[in-house]
Amino acid sequence: MDRIDFRSDTVSWPTPAMRKAMAEACVGDDVYGEDPTVNELEARAAALVGKEAGLLVSSGTQGNLVAILAQAGRGDEALVGRDAHVVCWEAGGMSSLGGVVPHTLATDEMGRMDLTELEEAIRPDDPHLPQTRLILLENSYGARAGAAIPPDYFAAVRDIADRHGLRVHLDGARLFNAAVALNVGADAITRHVDSVTFCLSKGLCAPVGSVLCGSADFIHEARRVRKLLGGGMRQAGIIAAAGLVALDEMIERLADDHAHARLLAEGLATIPGIVVSPESVQTNMVFFELGDEVALNAADVIDRLAADNIWVGDQGPRSFRAVTHYWIGPDEVALFVERLRAVLHG
Ligand SMILES: *Cc1c(COP(=O)(O)O)cnc(C)c1O
Repeated sequence: MDRIDFRSDTVSWPTPAMRKAMAEACVGDDVYGEDPTVNELEARAAALVGKEAGLLVSSGTQGNLVAILAQAGRGDEALVGRDAHVVCWEAGGMSSLGGVVPHTLATDEMGRMDLTELEEAIRPDDPHLPQTRLILLENSYGARAGAAIPPDYFAAVRDIADRHGLRVHLDGARLFNAAVALNVGADAITRHVDSVTFCLSKGLCAPVGSVLCGSADFIHEARRVRKLLGGGMRQAGIIAAAGLVALDEMIERLADDHAHARLLAEGLATIPGIVVSPESVQTNMVFFELGDEVALNAADVIDRLAADNIWVGDQGPRSFRAVTHYWIGPDEVALFVERLRAVLHG
C-alpha cells in the first residue's frame, strides 16, 4: 500500500487472490439470472446467514434501501436507533425515495435501543398515525466504536416484532466483525431477523458489493426494487468472484484486525495527551481524543500525519476514529503510534 490508511476498512484494496478470481470469473447477464458466479455468491451468502436466498447489491446503502422499500410503504414508520448508519449516513434514502418515516430512539453505549421504549414506540391502529412496519437494527454498531451486540438483544427484539406483526431488518455491514468478536456463527444473530445485509467491501476486502439475504419471497420482491433503483448489473460475476474469495478467506482473519485494533489502542494509551480506553475496543475500530492540555486540534494532527502518508479520520474537533483492515499489520500500527507521538511531542 502506498499509504497507511486508518480512515476506514472501506479503503482496503482487493487481495491478489481476488484480482485473479475476477480476471478468471465465469460471467453471464445477471439481470436474466444467468451469471453463474453471482448465483453462487448469492447462494453461499444466504447459507452463511441461514436464509433462503441472497441478492448481490452495489453497496451497503443500496442493500438497506432495497430492504426497507421491499418491506415498508409510503407513510409507514421504521423504528431505528437515532445514531444508526441508515439514519445518519445514507442521504435520507428511506424517506426521499421510499416515503418511509424513521422514528428514532436513543441507543445505549453498545447501540441498543431500550426494549421498553421500543415497544412503547409502536403505533396503535389509529387513522391519525403512521403505521409502524419495520424495526431497523445494526451490528457491529458503527456509532458506538464498532460495538459487537450479542444475540440475546436480537432475540428480544424479535419477540417484540412478533407480538406486533413487524418486520426486522439488520444492517450487518460489519456483521462478521461482530460474529467473530462474539465467537458465534453469524446465523446466531441473523436467525432473529427477516432480512440482513452485509458488506463484501469493508473488512472482507472485496472491491465492490454487499449481499442482501432473506426468504425466497422477500428476495423475489427485493430483486424488483433493486432494478427500480438502477441496481440491476449485467456481468456482475466480475464483482461476485471477489465476493466468493471474501467469504472463503477473509472472515476468520477479521480476528487479526481486532487484535491489531487493540494493539493500536494500547500503543495510543502510552502517548501523553491522548485519551483512549483500550478495554473498550471490541472489533476493528479505535476511537480516541486529544487531552485538554494539547494545543493542536484534530485537523492539525491529521494534516501533520498526512505529511508522512498516514491517514486517520476525525470524529469531531478533538477526536478521531482509526479502523484496522487487511492492509494494516503490526508494523503499520507501530509506525502510526510513533508518528503520532512525534506530532504531539516532537
Ligand atoms: C458502510 C456501512 C453501510 C453502507 O455501506 P456502503 O457500501 O458504504 O454504502 C451501512 N451500514 C453500516 C453500519 C456501515 O458501516
